[in-house]
Amino acid sequence: MINNDNIIALATPSGAGAIAVIRVSGKDAISLTGPLFKSVRGKDLKVQKSHTIHLGHIVEDSKVLDEVLLSVFKGPNSYTGEDVIEISCHGSPYIQQQIIQLFLRNGCRAAQAGEFTLRAFLNGKMDLSQAEAVADLIASDNEAAHQIAMQQMRGGFSNEIEKLREQLLNFASLIELELDFAEEDVEFADRSQFKILLAKIQEVLKRLIDSFAVGNVIKNGIPIAIVGEPNVGKSTLLNALLNEERAIVSDIAGTTRDTIEDEITIGGVGFRFIDTAGIRDTVDVVESIGIKKTFEKIAQAQVVVLLVDGWEMASDPDKLKTSIIELEKIKNRYPQKPLLVIANKVDRLQPEEIEGLKLHLPDLYLLSAKSGLGVEELKSRLLEFVNTGALRNSETIVTNTRHYNALLKALEEIERVQFGMDEDTPSDLLAIDIREALYHLGEITGHVTNDELLGNIFANFCIGK
Ligand code: GDP
Repeated sequence: MINNDNIIALATPSGAGAIAVIRVSGKDAISLTGPLFKSVRGKDLKVQKSHTIHLGHIVEDSKVLDEVLLSVFKGPNSYTGEDVIEISCHGSPYIQQQIIQLFLRNGCRAAQAGEFTLRAFLNGKMDLSQAEAVADLIASDNEAAHQIAMQQMRGGFSNEIEKLREQLLNFASLIELELDFAEEDVEFADRSQFKILLAKIQEVLKRLIDSFAVGNVIKNGIPIAIVGEPNVGKSTLLNALLNEERAIVSDIAGTTRDTIEDEITIGGVGFRFIDTAGIRDTVDVVESIGIKKTFEKIAQAQVVVLLVDGWEMASDPDKLKTSIIELEKIKNRYPQKPLLVIANKVDRLQPEEIEGLKLHLPDLYLLSAKSGLGVEELKSRLLEFVNTGALRNSETIVTNTRHYNALLKALEEIERVQFGMDEDTPSDLLAIDIREALYHLGEITGHVTNDELLGNIFANFCIGK
């Protein structure tokens, strides 16, 4: 799979901008650029030092295509580990294409998605989980997701796995060595030390596996189901939450109109608010489908918010009763799920009406989406619901499903080894299970790869990365 032909791609987004960066990597990156670049100071590109920048023109025959800044990185001290040229040109799509086409005619081919990072991996500049973190970093749209990707890219996650893998490998070799001396009945691998290592590995694997629950929601946004009848103020509340935060709003229409999602960043953490239909008793077929959907959404959510109209509840005992029934239904069905009951429109209530409501619903959270009363505190409450402790302590968090699956398999094998040790299983069988565990740990860092796996991972990158 190792390939060092010359590849080129636009590294900045396509479209117009002040500046665009075009990246070239490969064994001839510098020599093929030489004739296409005229330095204003008459420098010869071939003799320039690594990590230097040069002002000049990209020329075709005698025609000047653009005035550019050209950066030279010599392998192995470059992103890909090969010779790399980065051209910062003027950001018109026309100029970008002219330059890229010129290079394509002169010894380059168009890079595939993720090919620069694939080369970085193949040339040992980073391991596989770090390379995957590059894609996550580019995709991260909030502080928490960014922080996790950054930590993984710096190797936090792989270092931990790699240390364990090395220790395990050590034991595997010793146990396999014993097999060569089977007739002499010797023990090179200290069994009590090995048991300690196994326990430690299980502890670390379990912690990483558990962290996936946090990591996955942080990467994709923490799902919060908002249950509420029409007109209780769901849209107004979402807008109020949106207002002061830098947010990305996307209306992802679900299969039916009763599942709309809004993404909002609160305190650096991404939340996905899933708007649902209410769960009132009904004989209407269409409505009961909606209710089924609501329950499905509640099941998937990390937190449930039951939004009720406080003003209606205070003035109509029937409304109060239905809200209490709704609340009980959710509690009965999902007793473990964090649930927040919010009475909206409290700006329309008198203090004694509020007291009256609290008698029936002691944990009621009071809010006015319209006036903004209670909105700030609600944000803090939502953040409290989320287990971001791991984040704050900058512990390793697993966000990648591929890693998660490999960790599960590794743990399964380690548990098998542990069982084998307890049962005095012969060393040759033990060795097989250890090798399996090593295999799955190696899958994460890229010690064990195949072309298909690499193809899948890097196909998800953008071109130019
Ligand atoms: P949704 O159908 O649940 O999304 O409800 P909307 O957000 O569209 O709100 C329904 C109506 O209630 C609108 O006329 C809002 O202006 C009003 N409303 C929403 N929140 C409040 C509030 O806190 N106080 C008052 N007085 N009216 C509100």
